[in-house]
Parts: sequence; structure tokens; C-alpha cells
Amino acid sequence: MNDNEYYALLDRAFSLMPANEAQATGDFVIPKADSFIQGNKTIIRNFAQIADIARRKPELIQRFLIKELGTPSSIDGQTLKINARFQPEVLNDKIKKYFETYVICRECHKPDTHIESSERGYEVIVCEACGARYTVKEL
Ligand SMILES: [Zn+2]
Repeated sequence: MNDNEYYALLDRAFSLMPANEAQATGDFVIPKADSFIQGNKTIIRNFAQIADIARRKPELIQRFLIKELGTPSSIDGQTLKINARFQPEVLNDKIKKYFETYVICRECHKPDTHIESSERGYEVIVCEACGARYTVKEL
């Protein structure tokens, strides 16, 4: 087997992995919402922790979720209170989307990025691991 064949096999092995495994990028795993439903609201218990892992202000992730879920929410201490009922799968899907779009580097797939500036509807994402710079649509 030559190198190319080996890598092709490796690629195929990775593509056959279940979604949960594919979500891991190196050692980094996108955090999951620890949520529960209370009355007509959904509470994400570990919202501040998710923001810490993303190294983003909780308000930014909140804004993303309001847009994606079409539902207002409020930050209350460490938690986020969403004014509707959502299953954990729905929330985790949105959080994954946030990380993939705004946190994990498009080039090297590491999460060590920060927002350098935002202008005219765009945010400049800078990767501290590989130096990539690119723009994403501002929230
Ligand atoms: Zn990078």
C-alpha cells in the first residue's frame, strides 16, 4: 500500500465515523447544552461555560440563538432562559453551528480564534494557531 492509498483509507474511515466522533476536532469537542424545560421556557444551565469554551461574550452567542431559534431569551447569571420549549438536540445543533461558523478556524480546525474587529456587517476572525484571517457575516 502506498501513502496515497493509506490516506484514502484513512479518509474513508473518518467519513464512516458517527456524527459525534466527527464533531471532535483534534482534542477539542464542541460543548453540549445542559438544558431543561421549565414551564414554557428552556433553561441552558451551562451557558456561561459554553461561552467560556468559545471564548466569546455570552451576549454574542445569545444573539445567534435568538436569530436561529426565532425566540427571545435572557441571560440570568450562568444560565440562558429561552422563551419557548426546545429539545436538547435542537439547541446542540445550533451551538454546533455557532462553533463551526464563528469559533473553529476554517483553515486548521482549531478553536483558538478571536474576533479582531467587526465592520460593515462583517467580523474578522483571527486564528491564533495558524494565523488565518477571514471574515464572517456579523451577527
Ligand atoms: Zn487556524
